Formats: sequence, C-alpha cells, structure tokens
Amino acid sequence: MIKPDATSAGNTGAITKMIEEAGFRIVAMKKAQLTPELAGKFYEIHKERPFYGELVKYMSSGTIVPMILEKDNAVEDFRKLIGATDPKKAAPGTVRALFAKSIDANAIHGSDSDENAAIEGNFFFSQFERF
Ligand code: ATP
Ligand code: MG
Repeated sequence: MIKPDATSAGNTGAITKMIEEAGFRIVAMKKAQLTPELAGKFYEIHKERPFYGELVKYMSSGTIVPMILEKDNAVEDFRKLIGATDPKKAAPGTVRALFAKSIDANAIHGSDSDENAAIEGNFFFSQFERF
C-alpha cells in the first residue's frame, strides 16, 4: 500500500515503476481513502503501541493506493525493496530511502507474511477486482 505522504507528493507512478521493475506483478490496484475506523481495523495488531492513534489518524488523512502483488518470495523481496521502517535507517535506493518523509509518513506498507498478505488483500479487494 502506497501511503498518503507518497500519493500527495505525486510519487505513485515512480513507486509503481520500482515495484514492477523489481519483478512484481500488480494483480489488483486502486486509489482509496480509509476512514479512521477502517485504518484502525487495518492496523489493529498495533493497538497497544504508543503511536497507534497517530498512525490511524495519518493513514486516514489522504489517498492510499492498495495493491495485490505476486512474485516468488514476495514478502521478503518486497521488504528489501521498501527498506527499513525508519527512512533514516533504510538502505540507499529503497522506496523509503527515496520517498519517505519520516518514520510515520514512510511512503509504503508491505505485508509481513503470506498469511497477512491474504488477509490484507481481502481487506481491500473483492474477488471481482482481481484477474
Ligand atoms: P508497515 O507495516 O507499514 O509495512 P513496518 O512493518 O516496517 O511498516 P511496523 O512495525 O509494522 O513497521 O509499524 C507499522 C507502521 O507504524 C510503520 O510503517 C510506521 O508508519 C508506524 N510506526 C512504526 N513505528 C513507529 C514509531 N516508533 N513512531 C511512529 N510511527 C511508527
Ligand atoms: Mg508491519
């Protein structure tokens, strides 16, 4: 999911290009905006963490671009492509090193397991929006 800081800065195209050039197939993609309720549900696993309120507010503040991606070893390879959560620690050339503004406005989200990728894909897309 491309986050609001990256969509508002006009980096959707550049990030999508990096994703495709890294060998991912974009199976589904759309623009959307989360309500605070839905952002809270999406990040429910972080409910107890001190930044949860800010995260929910931020993630519902603007346009996002959720995608379903396919590739061998997709979860691990995508995390390599996006870089560390904190852009100051992200390796050069990664999406977060190039486009993230801060640890919260960090340009992009990647699923952390195949299981969560399936849950998150179903959160954003119905079967009719895939091909
Ligand atoms: P994501 O799940 O968005 O791909 P991640 O797996 O690298 O990011 P998580 O630990 O899952 O990082 O945190 C989820 C999101 O919460 C981060 O992407 C970031 O936007 C925000 N976040 C994480 N840690 C902090 C923090 N210390 N302060 C503020 N926001 C944070
Ligand atoms: Mg995470």
